[in-house]
Amino acid sequence: MTKEEFKKSLGELWLDLKLSDKELERFCEITDKIYENAFMGGLGSKQTIVCPECNLVQVGTIQKTLPFPTFIHECDKCGHIIMESEWQEAKTLHLNLKKQWFELIKSGEKKEEYREISEYWNNRFASMLCDFEMSEVKTITFSNGYSKDRPQFEIELKGIFIREGKEEWGAEPNKKYYVLKLGKLYPVGNTE
Ligand SMILES: [Zn+2]
Repeated sequence: MTKEEFKKSLGELWLDLKLSDKELERFCEITDKIYENAFMGGLGSKQTIVCPECNLVQVGTIQKTLPFPTFIHECDKCGHIIMESEWQEAKTLHLNLKKQWFELIKSGEKKEEYREISEYWNNRFASMLCDFEMSEVKTITFSNGYSKDRPQFEIELKGIFIREGKEEWGAEPNKKYYVLKLGKLYPVGNTE
């Protein structure tokens, strides 16, 4: 944030503070830090949120206002004004993918992801499988690799089933999997 932006954001208050140039610089630095932390470790100011009225998962933008960020969003479906007190990030499931599948899902070509039927996944998917409507998990965040700046994207989770998968999408023939049905991509975070 530049000094000019900072002065402007403070308005009248700026005159009362009587900051020196050095103090002003320091304030700008601190504000930048606060924002860096507030916006989820660099993921950005866009988040998937759930409307408390109609339950639609949608993208909300946090506005960079001073001294605190502003959380306000008009629901894309029912028009409800979602205020900060109602701001609820959609619960997401984090899964890692090999580059090949990562790109194919991101491009919209691969619309399902498969996971082995095993004790590990049984535990993670049990409640979603029993009652998907009631499940809080509405999106999946796919990552490629494990580095801090790994590419990621967040996508709609439309449902979860147990059935066979498609061979061209990595499934073995005549084998049943947890099939995660994927929907639209949410324009949030780092998708490079
Ligand atoms: Zn709504």
